[in-house]
Amino acid sequence: MTQTTVSATSTSNADLFSSQLEKSNRKKTEHSLLTDASKRLEQALKHLSMSEDAIERLRHPKTSLTVSIPVRMDNGSLQVFQGYRVRYDDTRGPGKGGVRYHPNVTLDEVQSLAFWMTFKCALLDLPFGGAKGGITVNPKELSKAELERLSRGYVDAIADFIGPDVDIPAPDVYTNATIMGWMMDQYSIIKRQLSRAVVTGKPLTLGGSEGRNTATATGAFYVIQATLPKFSQKPHNTTVAVQGFGNAGSILAELLFKAGYKVVAVSDSKGGIYTPQGLDIPSIREYKNSSRSIKAVYCEDTVCSIVEHQVISNAELLALDVDVLIPAALENQITAENANDVKAKFIYEVANGPIASAADAILAEKGIYVFPDILVNAGGVTVSYFEWVQNRNGWYWTLEEVNQRLKVRMEAETEKTWSIAQKLGIDVRTAAYVHGLNRLGEALDAKGTRNYYNNPV
Ligand code: NAD
Repeated sequence: MTQTTVSATSTSNADLFSSQLEKSNRKKTEHSLLTDASKRLEQALKHLSMSEDAIERLRHPKTSLTVSIPVRMDNGSLQVFQGYRVRYDDTRGPGKGGVRYHPNVTLDEVQSLAFWMTFKCALLDLPFGGAKGGITVNPKELSKAELERLSRGYVDAIADFIGPDVDIPAPDVYTNATIMGWMMDQYSIIKRQLSRAVVTGKPLTLGGSEGRNTATATGAFYVIQATLPKFSQKPHNTTVAVQGFGNAGSILAELLFKAGYKVVAVSDSKGGIYTPQGLDIPSIREYKNSSRSIKAVYCEDTVCSIVEHQVISNAELLALDVDVLIPAALENQITAENANDVKAKFIYEVANGPIASAADAILAEKGIYVFPDILVNAGGVTVSYFEWVQNRNGWYWTLEEVNQRLKVRMEAETEKTWSIAQKLGIDVRTAAYVHGLNRLGEALDAKGTRNYYNNPV
């Protein structure tokens, strides 16, 4: 029997973790993701007994690398960019996590995101630890050739730090399949052998997986389909509002529409649309792809005609009287300031961190069920795992095989999370952290604990 089992309430673990983390977080801002994530962890630690050694280990990122990347710009000048790669914990397997290109990227942010990935991979039982990377850059200001030189320069700088059995990058904010292809190619040049499994999220022709592009939305769809029946909530009686009509939000809206849900509102950064009768999502996707804007339309062939709809703001969308609310845009959308306005019965977090921890208690008080990001959006990293497996085997799966395996895993971990929530009488978010922490604690303790070494027998 390992030491990390679901057990009676113990506040000492939570106190220990929070006081330790507070020390290391002192310089971080109030809105630091790590600070917010750690609040959820403190909650979870009240519901399991974890060895002090494991808690101490999880307090420190395993390795943090900061690199300078010199790039020859198109005009002949030299510009040096800051890049980062953090492996938070690799007890359960090589590090796994995306690479973000954004002007606000800092080491602190990358460490926080790597910490989050550690729990997501453990929750989904993927044989990976948590990692993340980033470059402080506004990619929109670079030409395509500059972007390629920057991406290859990043790999030159971190090549000793990544690898198929060490740490495997993937796309994140403002990075895509093309960039992953460059990174894999550069790593292969350095190692003088084709190393497809070093990066996931690659183009299909360079060893990417079927279904990777739709994986986050498809995984979220499986979580929704597995949980709403527990409340006798049937698709045709369920109204849905989706904030964010990008890769994750728009594909999920279409999956829900096709399954018979009534998607009444969607939005993007410019605002939203609402029709109580329900929107024709495939037509809206088609129109958005051709016009870059969201309108309630009905499209036949290439002709789209506008149908009656109400234009709403993103704040209004979050406050709609719907059954299901899906934040699929940015972090910190529901906070202590607007949580009281939310009228949905269920929230599924497709975005990372869309609900600030300060809003948790308000939503719980209102009886709203929140299904957390580390479970709901984990389809992306799960199919990244499938891509890594396919690269290593040299045996590629069909879209149907990928989606079937994704369904099995998402449903199994959703059920386990749900039963922990029921057994301990806790919310689903805390249960998800308990579930992930149990697996992490078991792995950390398998290397030996204070009790093991102090016990003479
Ligand atoms: P995306 O860039 O494709 O889409 C983001 C969408 O949000 C766009 O439609 C944009 O217009 C909209 N948006 C931006 N600001 C908004 C605002 N203030 N209000 C409403 N909408 C706004 O990004 P994505 O890949 O769909 O990711 C969305 C979220 O899901 C992010 O939080 C991301 O971290 C998370 N996520 C995505 C994946 C994935 O595989 N795509 C995996 C895990 C988590």
